[in-house]
Amino acid sequence: TVERLRPFSSTIFAEMSALAVAHDAVNLGQGFPDTDGPASMLAAAKDAISTGHNQYPPGIGVPALRHAVARHQREHYGLDYDADSEVLITVGATEAIAGAIVGLVEPGREVVMIEPYYDSYAATVAMAGGVRRVVPLIADGDGFRLDRERLADAFGPNTSVVLVNSPHNPTGTVLSDDDLAEIARLCIEHDVVAVTDEVYEHLLFDGRTHTPLATLPGMRERTLRISSAAKTFNCTGWKVGWISGPPELVAAARAAKQFMTYVGSGPFQPAVAVALDNEMEWVRKSAAELEAKRDLLTSALVDSGFDVHRSEATYFVCADPRPLGYDDGVEFCRTLPERIGVAAVPVSVFADDKEPWKHMVRFAFSKRDDVIAEAARRLRTL
Ligand code: PMP
Ligand code: GLN
Repeated sequence: TVERLRPFSSTIFAEMSALAVAHDAVNLGQGFPDTDGPASMLAAAKDAISTGHNQYPPGIGVPALRHAVARHQREHYGLDYDADSEVLITVGATEAIAGAIVGLVEPGREVVMIEPYYDSYAATVAMAGGVRRVVPLIADGDGFRLDRERLADAFGPNTSVVLVNSPHNPTGTVLSDDDLAEIARLCIEHDVVAVTDEVYEHLLFDGRTHTPLATLPGMRERTLRISSAAKTFNCTGWKVGWISGPPELVAAARAAKQFMTYVGSGPFQPAVAVALDNEMEWVRKSAAELEAKRDLLTSALVDSGFDVHRSEATYFVCADPRPLGYDDGVEFCRTLPERIGVAAVPVSVFADDKEPWKHMVRFAFSKRDDVIAEAARRLRTL
C-alpha cells in the first residue's frame, strides 16, 4: 500500500460488522436499514432489468434520473439545476464525494471538514494528495454545535474546498442557520468551493427542516451539492447518488468520475427516478417511523445507564458509556459483541483529535422495532 493510504487499510464498518457476525450480535454498527424501500421503486428496477436496460447507461446518468433529481431540488428547495449540464449521477454519495475532491483539489491544498467526519472523507482527500483541516463539533447541552472560531481559523489562502455534512454522521446534528451562514461567509471571503454531503436531507426529526448550503446567497455558484438514494429510499446496496452544481464544478467531478467507474449501474437509475417523482410520501412516513425508532433506542440506552446525546436527524445516536464504567469507546465496541451480542461503532475513529471523542459510541437505529427491542434487552444486561 502506498504511504498516503496506509492509515486507511481497513474500515471500521467492515471490522465491526465482522465482529457482529462472529458473535451473532445485533448490528447497530453499520448504518443501513433492514427493511426495503417503496414497492414501486423495487418493481421499476425489476422492470428495467426485464425490459433490456442492462448495458452501459450514459456516463452522466440516465436522463430520467437526471431530470428527476433536478425536479426534486426545484420542488423541495427552489434550487434550479439544468439536468444536462448541472447534474451528474454517481455510484453512491461515496463516488460523488471522491469525484468532487479528486476533480477539485490540487495536491498540497487544504480541505476543511467537520470533525468527527464520515470515514471516506479523509481517505479521499489523501488519494487526491490534499491536506485535511478539521473543525470540531463541540458538545453543547445534550447536542453539538460547530466551533466557529476554529472554523474561521481553518480557512486561509491554501483552502481549496470545505466539505460540509449536515445532517451530520455520526452525531445526528443538524447545523444551525447561523453555522451555515458562517460557512457561506467564509467560502465567499476566501473564494472556496463548498462540497455538501446531504445524504440524510430527508431524515430529520421533531419538525426540523433541512436547508441546503447552496440556497444561501452567493452559494449556488460555488457549491457542489451531493445526495444519494441510499438513505432516502432504503437502498444502500444500489449505490445510486448524485451531484448538482454549476457546470464548471460538475465538469470537474465528472472528469474524475468517468475514470473511477465510467458509469453507474443501469437498471437502478430509472427506478430511483420513479421513487423521487412518486414516493416522497413514503419517505415522510419512513422518517416519522425513524423518529420513533430514535426514541426507542434512546430510551433503551438511557435505561441501560448511558448518557445519551440528542439525535436530531440521520440513522444515528451517540452515547457515553462512562457512567457504566467504560471510558474507551474503541475498547468498548471491540468487546461489546462478545459480551452482550450488540455491535456499535466508536466515534473516535472519525476524528483526528481523538481525545474529545474517546469515550463516545455511535448506535444505528435504522432497524426493525423487534431488532431494536432485542438490542435494548441485551443492553440492559450491561
Ligand atoms: N456520506 C455520509 C455522511 C454517509 O453516512 C454515507 C453512508 N451512507 C455516505 C456518504 C455514503 O453514501 P452512499 O452509500 O450513497 O455511497
Ligand atoms: N453510512 C453508513 C454508516 O455510517 C455505512 C457506511 C459504510 O458501510 N461504509 O454506517
